Amino acid sequence: MTPITLPTAQGHITIRSGRKVELPSGRTMTLKRFRSSVYFVVRWPDSPGAQQALTELGLSSADVQALTSAADEDVVLRQVLAPARERVRCARCGRVLWDAKSIRLGMGPECRKK
Ligand SMILES: [Zn+2]
Repeated sequence: MTPITLPTAQGHITIRSGRKVELPSGRTMTLKRFRSSVYFVVRWPDSPGAQQALTELGLSSADVQALTSAADEDVVLRQVLAPARERVRCARCGRVLWDAKSIRLGMGPECRKK
């Protein structure tokens, strides 16, 4: 997968290989952990757990809001933030798709050639 770069006020988030996320602080976390932290902040913004999740992400709550509202329009970002079982997969081979064109078409580049 091509790395996905997401701008935030604190710096860039880079998502590599569908699993590893580099945070603006330079720390890395798994995509699963990143997604659950983002979800926590969105779902329970005023809880102590949300503060902890924001500290872990190294982001402000405004950054997280911006990411999640962008996700509504950005098919790749939506795919990143979706739980694994809800991700769009290739209709032919079942692999998770990571680029906008493939997600829109519902099929990866290799399978489209067949
Ligand atoms: Zn495929």
